[in-house]
Amino acid sequence: MTRFTVPPPKSLQQPLSVPKRLLLGPGPSNISSRVQEAGGRQIIGHMHPEMFQIMDQIKAGIQYAFQTTNNLTLAISGSGHAAMEAALVNVLEPGEAVLIAMNGVWGERAADIGERIGAKVQKLVKTPGESFSLQDIEKALVQHKPVLFFITHGESSTGVVQNLDGIGSLCKSHNCLLLVDSVASLGGAPLFMDNQEIDILYSGSQKVLNCPPGTAPISFNERACQKIFNRKTKPTSLYLDMGWLSNLWGYDESPRKYHHTSPITCLFALREALAILAEQGLENYWKLHQENAEYLHKGLEDLGLKLFVKDKSMRLPTVTTIAVPEGYEWKDITNFIMKNYQIEITGGLGPTIGMVLRIGLMGINCTKANADLVIRALKDALEHCKKSKH
Ligand code: PMP
Repeated sequence: MTRFTVPPPKSLQQPLSVPKRLLLGPGPSNISSRVQEAGGRQIIGHMHPEMFQIMDQIKAGIQYAFQTTNNLTLAISGSGHAAMEAALVNVLEPGEAVLIAMNGVWGERAADIGERIGAKVQKLVKTPGESFSLQDIEKALVQHKPVLFFITHGESSTGVVQNLDGIGSLCKSHNCLLLVDSVASLGGAPLFMDNQEIDILYSGSQKVLNCPPGTAPISFNERACQKIFNRKTKPTSLYLDMGWLSNLWGYDESPRKYHHTSPITCLFALREALAILAEQGLENYWKLHQENAEYLHKGLEDLGLKLFVKDKSMRLPTVTTIAVPEGYEWKDITNFIMKNYQIEITGGLGPTIGMVLRIGLMGINCTKANADLVIRALKDALEHCKKSKH
């Protein structure tokens, strides 16, 4: 009698099939051929000295991208959520107060993680599509006296960019650490970790960096290190414990110890993506994203579409949100564009589901030609999709 109860799956006898797509949603964006080639290299061991050299280069690349000299700078093995969780789980101890700026889905996610840690989660809430003023933030800091304040730089569910100037010093004067999510904004909108006194900053690899998802840059300054290395309790996650990860990324003098097997292929890719960003130059990349976003916005408005974020200065250059045109089902539009153009644009997320369409022009995808293409596709969709609502 055979002990095999599951035969080899028939589907795996077919060759791998991946369609060619232009990814103009809020992420991931297409990966560049140089990054793709780096990811196709044969691997080496995760504890080989050559791997540590590559990790050091990644650290230097993140320091440039973040504009920081922080020694505790590394890439988390995981997507943007893993970095969000790493930041919160290492900084917060159960019972401590955390203040979360919530104007879209990312604040909701951070609050959820904070609750799981057993922190006292306080929420500073704004309508999706709006951003926070220094007065809003100061009032909440005085009221809740948090040890940590979370805010999102590029709110990709709403298309809002948050002005970060002044928030760092405000938090400092209230004895609170500032944690910023830059997953959707890094490389596409000005951000200066040290100059803006951001204590903890994290991002992702699959947006402006045009890298496969799976690694997430993160950095902690001295003030943040003081807090995370003087905890009374262990962070509840061993995988994301900065005590371990700091050593693996060469933060201290002691020899690097095995903690987990790094995603070697993803690190090769990230190394090249950061090298490309350094070659392009942050200022040039910020300018490119701003100019092409404005070009896209004009084209969309010429089509008669309404942008979801009214205030031009609050529009995120990387991800544009359009109010779902009246009478249309948003899904009909995204499906039409996928079917006829092999282009991904998406609907809303969290509080903006059903309210917006989202278009991302990020990194190598950020071109006027792509803006023209998506405008043409939208025009076509508006002409062909039936108006189902009246
Ligand atoms: N924060 C922001 C602002 C994001 O746009 C995203 C990804 N859409 C995330 C966090 C989560 O990243 P990931 O999907 O890589 O886990």
